Amino acid sequence: MKVLKFGGSSLADAPRYLRVTDISTATHQTDGAAVVLSAPKGVTNALSLLCEQAAAGEDFQPLFEKLTSTVTGIASALNETLTGFEYANVIDFIDTHLGVLKQHLEGIKLLGVAPDNVSAGILSIGEYISVTLFSAILSAKDIKNRIIDPVSYILAEGDYLDSIADVSLSKARFTDVPNDGSELLIMPGFVAANEDGEKVTLGRNGSDYSAAILAACIDASCCEIWTDVDGVYNADPNQVEGAVLLDKLTYQEAMELSYFGAKVLHPKTIGPIAQHHIPCLIRNTLNPAAPGTLISNEKSEKWTSVKGISQLDDVTMFNVAGPGLKGMVGMASRVFEVMSNANISISLITQSSSEYSISFCIQSKDAPKALQLLEDAFALELQNQLLDPIEIRQDLAIVTLVGDGMRQTKGLAAKFFNSLAQARVNNVAIAQGSSERSISTVIESKRAKKAVKVIHQNFFSDRHTIDVFLVGCGNVGTELLSQISKQQPALLKRNIQLRVYGIANSRKLLLNSQGIDLSQDWQPALAAASEGLSIERLQQFANDNSLINPVIVDCTSHEAIAEQYVAMMENGFHVVTPNKKANTSSMAYYRKLRNTALSTNRQYLYETTVGAGLPVIDNLQKLFSAGDVLHRFEGILSGSLSYVFGKLDEGMTLSEATATAKENGFTEPDPRDDLSGMDVARKLLIMAREADLSLELSDIEIESVLPEGFAEDCSIDEFMQQLPALDDGFKERVESAKAEGKVLRYIGSIEGDKCKVTIQAVPASNPLSQVKDGENALAINSDYYNPIPYVIRGYGAGGTVTAAGVFADILRTMPWKQMAH
Ligand code: ADP
Ligand code: ASP
Ligand code: MG
Repeated sequence: MKVLKFGGSSLADAPRYLRVTDISTATHQTDGAAVVLSAPKGVTNALSLLCEQAAAGEDFQPLFEKLTSTVTGIASALNETLTGFEYANVIDFIDTHLGVLKQHLEGIKLLGVAPDNVSAGILSIGEYISVTLFSAILSAKDIKNRIIDPVSYILAEGDYLDSIADVSLSKARFTDVPNDGSELLIMPGFVAANEDGEKVTLGRNGSDYSAAILAACIDASCCEIWTDVDGVYNADPNQVEGAVLLDKLTYQEAMELSYFGAKVLHPKTIGPIAQHHIPCLIRNTLNPAAPGTLISNEKSEKWTSVKGISQLDDVTMFNVAGPGLKGMVGMASRVFEVMSNANISISLITQSSSEYSISFCIQSKDAPKALQLLEDAFALELQNQLLDPIEIRQDLAIVTLVGDGMRQTKGLAAKFFNSLAQARVNNVAIAQGSSERSISTVIESKRAKKAVKVIHQNFFSDRHTIDVFLVGCGNVGTELLSQISKQQPALLKRNIQLRVYGIANSRKLLLNSQGIDLSQDWQPALAAASEGLSIERLQQFANDNSLINPVIVDCTSHEAIAEQYVAMMENGFHVVTPNKKANTSSMAYYRKLRNTALSTNRQYLYETTVGAGLPVIDNLQKLFSAGDVLHRFEGILSGSLSYVFGKLDEGMTLSEATATAKENGFTEPDPRDDLSGMDVARKLLIMAREADLSLELSDIEIESVLPEGFAEDCSIDEFMQQLPALDDGFKERVESAKAEGKVLRYIGSIEGDKCKVTIQAVPASNPLSQVKDGENALAINSDYYNPIPYVIRGYGAGGTVTAAGVFADILRTMPWKQMAH
């Protein structure tokens, strides 16, 4: 004989009841079946809410009517599809029970409270209606069946609302129940009776437990729990994308997972089936072909160390502390006695080694009662200040990693806590099960989903995620998006899921929680967006979507955005940027950026601020961190001015050369930034600061291409119109250099702590004379590179190479992949 249990999720409507009938009768024909049913979906919740409404003196009529129509709706739908369905009897049963319910609710409203014994009767109505419907279906199909009322069979003790069965005494009551398969047995789940024969319940979600008790009582060969997922996964499949279905779990693993929140199985279920060695299968009513997860003594060969992660919500932590705790024998046991006498179960305990405090977690619903009881029990100690006032912390969750093989595997705890650090989650308390089968952390509830996602990713998946928010869609930003779009499939093949969740320009912010489809034109959606950019909004979005690795990519050249990098990192974002403004702001801000990156464990990457896509910053950092010291630097740092000065050699005028550079996208949006020397000065400052020089932008000597005050306050177009006024003067300089066999070059240099940007006439023997057409060249003389300099040379201008450099930085934000499981 097999026990089959169907949860509320399998009993949502008439078609689901018929599906459950098919599954049950098929098993009944081969093995004989005893079926345990929950209430129809949502019914127990409604009953519980009705009690609350009545006790609060609220109008419960609307919900009562809704409940009535749900259950009668299922009955009439069944009546329409099944001939021989005893509709009148079923409706009579429903009416009677709902009539009693209404009387009780009115009584509760008058009393202002719902006593537990009355609540137990009310909460279990759904299960009784459920078995009545099911029995009527079977009878209509001429299948002999019998309803077993748990009140007469299952003996339990404890609270009216959370009792524990005595399996051996209950078993003795089953002598009159045939277990030869002659009748299909049906039992309402969730219900039992106490010694006095009063109806009690087994705790919310307790029908799984009923099935286990029944299986033990009738010596079933198997206990099948049918639900709405294919089995037990290594994390809640409705919360974690990519959760993996487990083939097998040991009883202990299943116990630990369910105890710490895997709702697919009620934790009390394991006791009876483990004790009687009954294998348990978790299966999907909506997909009966799936084999399900087997819970038994067998170990899985697939997942040998860590099996799963579970999350227990609605947790409150108590902290009992005070000088009186130290050395006072029995204090801890008194605390726990208070809880156990009140039937409050403790999910996790930690004690400080100084014995100065004990912390423990309980379900939040029990917290007010627990606090009251503790304060009463320790009134004297509290009064005499042997104990500090009892502290409670609410809105917590417990996240637990479970697996039998954890004992033999080293480093799992480190990986677990690294994952929490990566998710930027603080541990309020931690505990390792004494069996070493689990490690738990207590964290703020609002962070739990993200924590589970990151832990899952690090333990069970090879997939990395990068969650990009792009600010600024000019030349570089737009090019970056098109490169990302092209690369996304190839990255996915390497298990990197790079999605762009947000795009912002100076006015609008476009967000999409699925990731923006870059193969489509995203411009209209951005134009139609109704909100603007703010860090708060981005942070809220990243939280709501539990993004693991959010990166803000600033492709603007705005100071206002650069000023927000510290706040961005503090809010959990990595920052990647080609914008030079932050690194060339005050030295104080420069230091703050680096300190924030360290303290928040975020990456701040700006490789493209010097030399566009050329690997300048990374190389400098490697050199200097290996102990090298800069002596001298000289180079052409501006792709645009490399281009412009190269064109002057060829005989173009300054204004023609500038206009061509601008058309080719080689200049900054405003060419004055290049011609003023400011852009080169910023790059020089960035390099100097990498070399540990403490300098400000104002310390840099700049020889501008533009005379002081030239076309300063006009628009870009007007500036371009005025530029020809400088052509003649420049022509003269170019020609007099030429007469000496030289060319003009715009050169940045660092010598000691002096940084200069100058127009120099260089002879053909100087390698910089060859650098033109947008090329950059950097020569670094240092302790290690002397007298021959370290040279970096290559194309250093334009949106394509800059975007490619930004892209490379984005990929560098990927967390270090920790040791494999
Ligand atoms: P039923 O109504 O059948 O008793 P429940 O809603 O109580 O169903 O339990 C099934 C749900 O448990 C699933 O829909 C899933 O969201 C949740 N769940 C939580 N953790 C896990 C897990 N590790 N594996 C499978 N399901 C899980
Ligand atoms: N119907 C009960 C509940 O919702 C028991 C169960 O479904 O397991 O809590
Ligand atoms: Mg359930």
